[in-house]
Amino acid sequence: MKILAIGRNYVDHAKELNNAVPTKPVIFSKPDSALLKDNKPFYYPDFTNDLHYEVEIVVKINKLGKNIDVKFANRYYDKIAIGIDFTARDLQNELKQKGLPWDLAKGFDSSAPISEFINISEIKDLSNLNFSLDKNSETVQEGNTKDMIFSIDEIIAFVSKYFTLKIGDLIYTGTPKGVGPVVIGDKLVTKIEGKEMLSVEIK
Ligand code: MG
Repeated sequence: MKILAIGRNYVDHAKELNNAVPTKPVIFSKPDSALLKDNKPFYYPDFTNDLHYEVEIVVKINKLGKNIDVKFANRYYDKIAIGIDFTARDLQNELKQKGLPWDLAKGFDSSAPISEFINISEIKDLSNLNFSLDKNSETVQEGNTKDMIFSIDEIIAFVSKYFTLKIGDLIYTGTPKGVGPVVIGDKLVTKIEGKEMLSVEIK
């Protein structure tokens, strides 16, 4: 399986990092070795001094697809989860300045914690879904899927022009504002509609 992710998909987050609001989705990928499941701890890597959390809604693809039309995109997923797109911000800034790919800053081992999946049929309105991240019991990120620049269906239509989507592929759909650093000893908890879904201890 592959993990695709979209950068700068919330206006307020693009602005907080002094990035232009994109007119086309900004796509990157993470290898499957980035996944971190079952609330396992995250071990702070030695190649960064500025590791950031980014809370994101994650969509799981359930059907093979290529060149998917936006109006049929909703047939290609029926489960979502919440995840964290861990980012070595210092490394990313260095790579961005040089115009180099982000892979090392975004795709390292365990950089993609993920919760259990929820069936979309259990969700009232996926296009108006509140989610959040708490750091040490204080809420530091709050988002709602209605503020996405590119909707889930638009992201699927766009990425499937380039990549065949396969069953089990994951798409991290972008983070709202409030990203920030973690240090060893921090505990992150992510929630959907106030319900705890994922917790990650930084070790
Ligand atoms: Mg992100």
